[in-house]
Amino acid sequence: MAANASSSTPQTARAPLGFGRVFTDHLARADHEPERGWGPVRIEPYGPIALDPAASVLHYGQSVFEGLKAYRGRDGRVRFFRLADHARRFAASCEAVCIPPLDPAVFVEAVRGVVHRDIAHVPTDPESALYVRPFAFASEAFLGVRPAHEYAFLVILSPVGAYYAKGFGPVRIRVEQQAVRAAPGGLGSAKTAANYAASLRAAQRAKELGYDQVLWTDAREHRWLEEVGTMNLFVHLDDKVVTPPAGETVLAGITRASVLTLLRERGVEVEERALSLDEVREAAGRGTLREVFGTGTAAVISPVGALGLEDGDLVVRDGQAGPLALELYRHLCAIQRGEAEDPWGWTEVLES
Ligand SMILES: *Cc1c(COP(=O)(O)O)cnc(C)c1O
Repeated sequence: MAANASSSTPQTARAPLGFGRVFTDHLARADHEPERGWGPVRIEPYGPIALDPAASVLHYGQSVFEGLKAYRGRDGRVRFFRLADHARRFAASCEAVCIPPLDPAVFVEAVRGVVHRDIAHVPTDPESALYVRPFAFASEAFLGVRPAHEYAFLVILSPVGAYYAKGFGPVRIRVEQQAVRAAPGGLGSAKTAANYAASLRAAQRAKELGYDQVLWTDAREHRWLEEVGTMNLFVHLDDKVVTPPAGETVLAGITRASVLTLLRERGVEVEERALSLDEVREAAGRGTLREVFGTGTAAVISPVGALGLEDGDLVVRDGQAGPLALELYRHLCAIQRGEAEDPWGWTEVLES
């Protein structure tokens, strides 16, 4: 076990792990210099990193990240879910904020290397996992405003507990019709720190009002539903499932893409199209609003029990989780742990 007090205990956690507070013993790191480009990946002990106070990330926020998980199946083996897709999205996020894109093969090498080193920290409890957080930021000490000349790329690991410790519970989300997270032409399609800075105040307000997260609407009219905080949105209307198109203002979630594939495979009609709040309200009025759920790596599937509107709550399914959300959750979790067929090659075993 590492010297740092917050290190995780291998295999079995003593106290509930929660999310993102406990880290393993090692990290992966590579640095970028202008003449050389990205240097080799090193595996180092986990600990505080030295950063010049003038490092440009601290002033102008030039920074991107990813979030994925390594799962231990009942067979004891550790698997990644769609690692190559996370690597590609990371490179695209880098380009959006002028960070020299990291070769996806280097991303994969770094993630595999550090997880292999700390493989004993991949939790064994069903539904727990090892959360993998790769990130890159401008490390150059320079206060001028331009893309930096030096960058760091790191991968840290956090064992996380079962997301639904008390059962598959619906969340309450507030439909935000004033603040804007991402606008057309902006950074909404990148996983960058800036998008999260832009979201915090509205998220805090939603919490104060008794909601778990924010559902963002479009920046121009606040009429079209976009995505939920850290999740993409799905709405089961009558006989079809609708999700807003990924693009400039909606992140192309990997869980979203997986859910679309699973729904099509089940023969469910799916539509990737603009979805207005009015359409959802009307469906609720007619009794054809069947389910609302979010998708993302952290919770996989999150049923939505209520949408908070200016004039009160629109309650979905009496605030209960729906059968489609539950089936998709079980199916995806089973694939991630090697317990269901994976004809798409989404999972990859990490040989120990
Ligand atoms: C990461 C993220 C998601 C979910 O993406 P997954 O690849 O499914 O984890 C959705 N929206 C935003 C804004 C995100 O940052």
